[in-house]
Amino acid sequence: METMKAGAILEVKEAKMVEIEKPVPGKGEVLIRIRACALCTFEQRAFSGVKQFPMPYLGGHEVAGEIAEVGEGVLAKWSVGKKVAVRTITRCGQCDFCHMGEDTMCTEIGKAGRQVKEMEGIGGLAEYFLVKPDMLFPLHEELPYEIGALAEPLACVIHSIDQAEIDLGDTVVVIGAGIMGLLHLQLALLKGARVLVVEVDEARRKMAMDLGASQTLDPMATDMVSFVKDFTDGSGAEVVICTPAISKLAEDSVQMVTKMGRVVLYGSFHPDTPLSLSPNQIHYSQIRLTGAVNPGSKDFLRATKMINAGIIDVGHYVDTTFPLAEIQEAYESAIKPGRFRVVVTMD
Ligand SMILES: [Zn+2]
Ligand SMILES: [Zn+2]
Repeated sequence: METMKAGAILEVKEAKMVEIEKPVPGKGEVLIRIRACALCTFEQRAFSGVKQFPMPYLGGHEVAGEIAEVGEGVLAKWSVGKKVAVRTITRCGQCDFCHMGEDTMCTEIGKAGRQVKEMEGIGGLAEYFLVKPDMLFPLHEELPYEIGALAEPLACVIHSIDQAEIDLGDTVVVIGAGIMGLLHLQLALLKGARVLVVEVDEARRKMAMDLGASQTLDPMATDMVSFVKDFTDGSGAEVVICTPAISKLAEDSVQMVTKMGRVVLYGSFHPDTPLSLSPNQIHYSQIRLTGAVNPGSKDFLRATKMINAGIIDVGHYVDTTFPLAEIQEAYESAIKPGRFRVVVTMD
């Protein structure tokens, strides 16, 4: 049995490089040599103990690498050495939602997702990763792996932007200027909107302005609902995207939107405090309140096309990189406030 290295969380706030079994590609499977894996909020919550996970836990779902081995019956275009972004969350391809192309709503999503026998987790923080080729999206030869790993968060935001149905000239309010908020800003600009970004942190407000926001706003200093109303001559924004995990902000979002506007609840809510809403406001103004979760295949395709063609720059979201051997340091760095993405690299 061959082994490979993996960066596992052994218990809360304790991560370590361990040896586990290296997978072997069977018929129709491809073995990926992972070269970069970004530490998302999901993994950070496992490390910090904010959410309970079975331990040991092997996270990692924002992944780029190269094809290492190809099983029997795989199309020739998936050749050894090819650089790819990997969709790590599985779908069934057999449920109604998969058939409709809405694979983020797959009834079996992630259920085939356990990658290694030894422990729970998606398993991207390892040297190798076994996939079916429908999970692979080619990356440009020259693209650094740590950039390619950000195809997944970009794909998530592309899915969200679809829900927002932004039109040319719309006013879009993005609440929160973490990586997800700023990616929404970048994509909303490409859709021809003017964008107002709400964020408490001054450095992040500055970054939003540098990326092209029309206006930023500190919600601790200014009432954001009346600000947005004034900014739109009293009518409200066509689109509000709420990225932080705070229910009160979802209520405020509904107050900021114009007739027929769209509110997208992008982040999940912790705690999941119920909202107070006026059903009549929804009835009379025909606003739409929706969510966005997970990236679908179409979102991955568009994300990698945008990154490969240089249509969007995501390089400024990589704060720093750590080798897999320093998985503990990588996690400690990732959970520090003000981080966008810490990326673990495997050379
Ligand atoms: Zn993620
Ligand atoms: Zn399905």
